[in-house]
Amino acid sequence: MEVTFCSQCGSRLVEKDMGERIRPVCPNCGHIVYLNPTVAAGTLVEENGKVVLVRRGAEPMAGHWALPGGYVEADESAEEAAIRETWEEVGLRVELDGLLDVYSFDGTPQGKGVLVLYAAHAIGGELQAGDDAIEAALFPPEGIPEDVAFTTHRQALRDWCRARAIVYREATVQEAQIVAQLNEQYDFEQGRDWTGYVEKDKSVLFVAMDRERVVGFSSVTIQEWNRTANLNQIFVLPSYRRWGIATRLIEKDLDYASEHEVRALLAEAPATNPALVVYLKAGFRVCGFLDTYYPPARTLPATALFLAYDFSHP
Ligand SMILES: [Zn+2]
Repeated sequence: MEVTFCSQCGSRLVEKDMGERIRPVCPNCGHIVYLNPTVAAGTLVEENGKVVLVRRGAEPMAGHWALPGGYVEADESAEEAAIRETWEEVGLRVELDGLLDVYSFDGTPQGKGVLVLYAAHAIGGELQAGDDAIEAALFPPEGIPEDVAFTTHRQALRDWCRARAIVYREATVQEAQIVAQLNEQYDFEQGRDWTGYVEKDKSVLFVAMDRERVVGFSSVTIQEWNRTANLNQIFVLPSYRRWGIATRLIEKDLDYASEHEVRALLAEAPATNPALVVYLKAGFRVCGFLDTYYPPARTLPATALFLAYDFSHP
């Protein structure tokens, strides 16, 4: 974008070599103009396995489908902008579930842009096209329209469809061996009998499969003596995080525990682990802590939090 006059004093700007790049500078007051990407924020709102899209009524890309979103105003945060744009464009009050991804894109009038995309769910309102939109609708993964407006939105929808296509099921012995390798690679607690979880009664190993690839896993052991179940481990490959895979694995764990009519599913996690929020959202409560639980050899000493999901089984 061409900037001609100084925003501070109105003098005509000159170009000055600043070493790393040439910038417009005011010869009168010394003001330096930094041209930065425009920041946009948007949401991927999921409802019953479908995603909310809006058909744009305004340029750019009028008539094309897009995720709800728009430019962040100078006086708001990216989160506030994402929530506001979703309300304005599709009539839904949303709560953000977390950051999905950050995408750079070309082609704003100012040059490059950055899209901050959040996962969200509706907590109110009604799905309907806002002022600038032609229509708003829900689409299943297999029914995403061809004419999605922006590269970043197409990429995000491809990522979402891939996450939706992940299959959650009990592991085979062969997959348990892959889990053991992942465990080695990512340096978790040693000594777990991964194939044992598959072969023995009263325990299970669930895997999240992206086609033939193990991208996450979780295991549960039933403890007969006090009729509780223990969630032994949960893991998702770094490149697959933020897309709800851990949540789906926990749902499988809860189903398994419930089928065995235990009174509670118990878990433990370092208090510093960001994944804690996944447990809390799934309905776990913090039921205790111990600051000497982890061995001193651990690089990041942390307090262990103990979590319980209570079933109504007597
Ligand atoms: Zn000036």
